Amino acid sequence: MHDDRQLIEERLRRALMERIKPAVYGETVPLRAEIWHAPGEPVPPAEALAASYAPAPIGTAWGPAWGTAWFRFSGEVPAEWTGRDTTDVEAVVDLGFSGGPGFSAEGLIHTTDGIPLKGLHPRQTYAPLSLLEPKNGRVEFYVEGAANPEVLGPRGFQPTTLGDKPAFDTQPGGTPIYRLARADLAIFHAEVWDLILDLEVLQGLQEQLPASEPRRREILRALSRALDVLDFADVPGTATAARAELAEVLSRPAHASAHRLSAVGHAHIDSAWLWPLRETRRKVARTVSNVATLAEEYPELVFAFSQAQQHAWVRDNYPVVWDRLKKAVAAGNIVPVGGMWVESDTNLPGGEALARQFIHGKRFFLDEYGIDTQEVWLPDSFGYTAALPQLVKLSGSRWFLTQKISWNTENKFPHHTFWWEGLDGTRVFTHFPPIDTYNSDLSGRELAHAQRNFAENGSATRSLAPFGYGDGGGGPTREFVAAAHRVADLEGSPRVTIEPPAAFFAAAESEYGAAAPVWSGELYLEIHRATYTSQAKTKQGNRRSEHLLREAELWSAAAVVAGKLADYPYEELDRLWKIVLLHQFHDILPGSSIAWVHREAEATYAEVAADLEAIITRAQSALVDEGTGTHEVVFNAAPHSRHGVPALGASARSGDAAAATIDGNVLDNGLLRVTVDDRGLVTSILDVEAGREVVAPGNAANLLQLHVDIPNMWDAWDVDPHYKNTVRDLTEVDSVSLDVLDGVATAVVQRSFGDSTVTQTLRLQPGARRLDVECDMDWHESEKFLKAAFPLDVHADRWASETQFGHIFRPTHQNTSWDAAKFEIAAHRWVHAGEPGYGLAVVNDSTYGHDVSRTTRDSGGTTTTVRLSLIRAPRFPDPQTDQGRHVVNYALVVGAGIAEAVEEGYRINLPERVVAGGIASVDPVVAVDNDAVVVEAVKLADDRSGDVVVRLYESRGGRASATLTTTFDLTGVDEVDLLERPLSARDRSANTVPLALRPFQILTLRLRR
Ligand SMILES: [Zn+2]
Repeated sequence: MHDDRQLIEERLRRALMERIKPAVYGETVPLRAEIWHAPGEPVPPAEALAASYAPAPIGTAWGPAWGTAWFRFSGEVPAEWTGRDTTDVEAVVDLGFSGGPGFSAEGLIHTTDGIPLKGLHPRQTYAPLSLLEPKNGRVEFYVEGAANPEVLGPRGFQPTTLGDKPAFDTQPGGTPIYRLARADLAIFHAEVWDLILDLEVLQGLQEQLPASEPRRREILRALSRALDVLDFADVPGTATAARAELAEVLSRPAHASAHRLSAVGHAHIDSAWLWPLRETRRKVARTVSNVATLAEEYPELVFAFSQAQQHAWVRDNYPVVWDRLKKAVAAGNIVPVGGMWVESDTNLPGGEALARQFIHGKRFFLDEYGIDTQEVWLPDSFGYTAALPQLVKLSGSRWFLTQKISWNTENKFPHHTFWWEGLDGTRVFTHFPPIDTYNSDLSGRELAHAQRNFAENGSATRSLAPFGYGDGGGGPTREFVAAAHRVADLEGSPRVTIEPPAAFFAAAESEYGAAAPVWSGELYLEIHRATYTSQAKTKQGNRRSEHLLREAELWSAAAVVAGKLADYPYEELDRLWKIVLLHQFHDILPGSSIAWVHREAEATYAEVAADLEAIITRAQSALVDEGTGTHEVVFNAAPHSRHGVPALGASARSGDAAAATIDGNVLDNGLLRVTVDDRGLVTSILDVEAGREVVAPGNAANLLQLHVDIPNMWDAWDVDPHYKNTVRDLTEVDSVSLDVLDGVATAVVQRSFGDSTVTQTLRLQPGARRLDVECDMDWHESEKFLKAAFPLDVHADRWASETQFGHIFRPTHQNTSWDAAKFEIAAHRWVHAGEPGYGLAVVNDSTYGHDVSRTTRDSGGTTTTVRLSLIRAPRFPDPQTDQGRHVVNYALVVGAGIAEAVEEGYRINLPERVVAGGIASVDPVVAVDNDAVVVEAVKLADDRSGDVVVRLYESRGGRASATLTTTFDLTGVDEVDLLERPLSARDRSANTVPLALRPFQILTLRLRR
């Protein structure tokens, strides 16, 4: 039984597809097409324009995967068209697009002078003749075609070698993957195009209305009448009459209580993902060109453009596009948002690095556009750290936007507009668009979903909708803008207004700011939990770089302040920071990009490390290069002293403790007695002072556990709960050898399993309360997950893990679905589990993934098991993920509170450096007399005034008073924000500054010399 509605919908669908849409373009004349196959990586336009072109009839194959072809299109505009408005004639080019926008071939139209004009994408295949500026009736232009392959093929997440960097140099050519499909000049019938928009908007609206709504019947009748008057033999000639039948239903105003949507044009461009960084530079240029062209036609267009790095790519590589971008920003069509260098991951970047994301992002927008962005824009990152609200506020921003939490698999997040409270108590006004996408098409279905889904209905009336094709889809289309006009004030639809994000936030905050609910703590994403572990070398590169940057800034500042180095390496540090920040993008650091991206990242991190080592060596040598003695000077970049070497300073190591010993199979340093059995497992750790066994009875610590790890969907991204069901304890051993080496009690344990081997070196240093493990893995598994387990005899109800500028607690139980969903989490340098008066920490120098669980033993005691996630082996998008050799270091810190966890976390990541020098010690630039107050960064001010900038934070979650002392003459102190802008003057007395910090407070001081 078909009711009226179904009949009308079926009639409309067929008419649109077969009759009306094909009538948008009338008469056409073919363009002459020629092609030049660029031999390898992309070349500058000048080189391409000078190449020799061959004829390229429709059907010409082009582009091996990742290859580039340049097309030259030319033709005469027919004389009989010349009376027409040039906006009614368009060039239409289809490069053979397949797949969705952003995941297929793309093109960038250039003039005959090599100036980029507009992108070409699967849903944006036209260029108005006015843009192409024909001369004497003749049009000629070039298109740079990028043969970006569909890495995500029709069968979804299948292993593919399409993500490898092609060997253009050694294997020229390659199989073409696209064929030129269309190149015409065509008459564009605007009236037909408008009719399509009318029909689609009304159809999308009526299908969302309840069957009982009179409005729905009214729209159906109007649609039916419009089709009645449309003559399929002359669609252009009757389109106006058909539209007249729709005018009345399109003119009815929205209900007084209709939801209000702020529509913001957007293109979520992943800075790298299923394509390499070099392609993103081109994707950005195409998208910005499209948006600038669209804004000329629709001056009301607003496009939110995040990621300062992408703006910088335009500036540095496309001067003409940069001019258009700057003009569009000045006109308000393109709105810089986000205030970050990239849309970074926020689970994994270290504290200082996350601060620098804001510093470099906001500063770019200030310097280039004079705009102090207020809204942080992170629609797609994989969970949000509890450290963010304070950083957002200290960067001078007010609002936060994400959408990703709608991806939660277990729990629906309860709010769309709320105050988000961070770990220190700072609150930031936050919005999750209830439209549940950052690539909206503003269809009736999506608009109705946003209105229905909005959790604050009844209390608030507004939400935001980012619309447009991302990732090289070219951003918003003219169809989306035209659809937005039709739903601006339309009965049955939410009211849609194209406006900047700041306008939305200001209105939403004024409407709801006083009453909005509060969400406290991290915004944990209940999916993509394997992104804390996948692509181990990328993660290790990030961690190493962050700590080398700390050292490079600290020692360079110390050397300049001491008058021993003339120049602080401002430019070099700025360049290196930006490389590290770029690689924290939410598909690079999380390990979810193609092989090309990650292999390149490893090479880049190696270069960054070499450059930073050179800066550090230069500064340290300058600091000790005077006097006549010969000293072994130990540099300590950690924020706490060790072996008598002051924090942030250098001196000779003071008297070492007596050597550790080995007795039978027991490693002993007088503080700890560690038993390694003949399986190489740690069956006992006795804390001598506390008189306490640390390993849970009947268990072994540092146990390697191998899980089968086949996620249901997203290989590199996900570890699903079922992975725990299949586990193999690696207890078989190839060899165990114990020895005392240089006073260090050492056990070397070698194991083989599958196609892999692991050699672990356990070290008990003299005087240490720490059992160090160096884990050297030759990893050749597929779809496996390796963890190191520490079953500990402590009754821990909750456990702490380090995050940026502090730590957060999570329960060890799984009482609620919210607790259970956190079965794998990201920690930084340490995790801690303890009971009153006694605890343990596990610290690491390279890894992020952890899980902690607890069981009750028959005796009634509690075993708390802390596990580090060492390595995975997913097959998509990089089928070779993590194959090969990896060395990671971790340690169990025995009898540790949070304070010791913080200290050892820094130490394992900042090994001391021994430098031969003429003088025996280097005083710290600054010293703080309370270990709870941690110095996170010491640097010279970015304004090159020579002021010293010190960033500190309270690290234990308590109140802390301290005195900061400088070794230089202090003439003034300001508290500043992250961008080093003054907040308030601070008291000082001589060279000391009194400090009082609230729990987890971040404090940045500008110290004038
Ligand atoms: Zn993304």
